[in-house]
Amino acid sequence: MFKKTGIASNKMIEKLLPSAERRKKGPYAIFECFQEIPCNPCFTSCRVGAVEAFEDINHIPKVHHEKCSGCGLCVSACPGLACFVIDETYSDTEVLIKIPYEFLPLPKTGETVNGLDREGNIVTEVKVIKVQNNKKLDNTNVITIAVPKKFMLDVRNIQVGRE
Ligand code: SF4
Ligand code: SF4
Repeated sequence: MFKKTGIASNKMIEKLLPSAERRKKGPYAIFECFQEIPCNPCFTSCRVGAVEAFEDINHIPKVHHEKCSGCGLCVSACPGLACFVIDETYSDTEVLIKIPYEFLPLPKTGETVNGLDREGNIVTEVKVIKVQNNKKLDNTNVITIAVPKKFMLDVRNIQVGRE
């Protein structure tokens, strides 16, 4: 369940992962969204029908991973910053993670920054692979980072401008 801070535990996140077979096929979305709230941009932003239609807008969203292309539109659209895309096929040692990023300045492609956990603690260094500025669309910017595989469940934010 939630830790004292209300932050999702890794056990909760593990339950969101697709099958081992699907994980080997390429990027997939996970929604770290555990509370019933009236919200559905993850559903409305998905162009391939990979998010189950909500019977009730308060329901918790569900991804159909076989349909998900890992495009990241939901990452940019989610007001709760709860959508991420993970690509475990990137390399033998690193995964790619698309994260929503609301701060300025934006990082630069190729820059090494601190990878943070959900509570803002520094976990490890990560490399910025892509910076997608979505502010013209009034959506959240999306940063793609390369993260050491062992920290795949931990890193969900970055710190730009390290000391
Ligand atoms: S990553 Fe793209 S395809 Fe997958 S659920 Fe999100 S919007 Fe749909
Ligand atoms: S858009 Fe984000 S916060 Fe809203 S229901 Fe979907 S995953 Fe949860």
